[in-house]
Amino acid sequence: MNNRNDRATWIKGNAATCCTAPKPRARPPRLVLLGAPGVGKGTQAELLCSGFGVCQLSTGDIFRAAKCLPEVERSPALTDAVGYMKRGDLVPDTTVLDLLRERTRCLNCRGGFLLDGFPRTVPQAEALNQLLEEEKIRLEAVLNYTLPIQTIVDRLSGRRTCQECKAVFHVSARPPRVAEVCDHCGGKLIQREDDLPEAVERRMLVYEQSTKPLVEYYRDHGILRTISAEGSPERIYERTLAILDV
Ligand code: AMP
Repeated sequence: MNNRNDRATWIKGNAATCCTAPKPRARPPRLVLLGAPGVGKGTQAELLCSGFGVCQLSTGDIFRAAKCLPEVERSPALTDAVGYMKRGDLVPDTTVLDLLRERTRCLNCRGGFLLDGFPRTVPQAEALNQLLEEEKIRLEAVLNYTLPIQTIVDRLSGRRTCQECKAVFHVSARPPRVAEVCDHCGGKLIQREDDLPEAVERRMLVYEQSTKPLVEYYRDHGILRTISAEGSPERIYERTLAILDV
């Protein structure tokens, strides 16, 4: 997704250096994205990254990268985390927070950042708050994308991903020309493990229980900005820019 920066520091930790230096900004955008899985947050993250030149700091990407590594190259904590991810459960806060502390260079990045998929629980938000205070960094806004739950479940369970090029389709909203075959490379379309009906239900339950209280947390802190995720990605992006007042 990110052709400007390989996000090496985010994916591998503070010891790794990104391929591109950030463009320093007088007021770096420092944002958190919230929203249930399937709400279209990933697409908005890409648009915001291109628009603002910031990196998308997704904790899910750290775990997905770890999943592709041979087991001997993963730390025990990461191997453990991949197991939780495969089952559609949240990775324990302590593991996620240890990984974040190994990535403080990204929070200090002079280009700003876009946190996606973190924080996911109130304890994670409290820990982030504390870390940002220690580092003297101020969050600008928490963008909360919303959609009715049934719309989300339909979107996720109909999603199909190309095994080869990873292009994303949808059985009804964006069907491929030939069923189960990628329009772009002819690869086989599959249902991602975490888009299977059991995992979708589990993810929604986990979201309701653990992540929704974050909305209240950030509302109380006065930095929550709620945005409707109905309509095209471009329309949602326009709403986002209007809310950020840029
Ligand atoms: P995502 O791509 O954000 O949906 O994340 C994929 C999976 O990674 C989630 O279903 C969780 O298992 C795990 N994960 C990602 N971020 C977190 C987090 N902040 N806390 C706990 N688990 C996480």
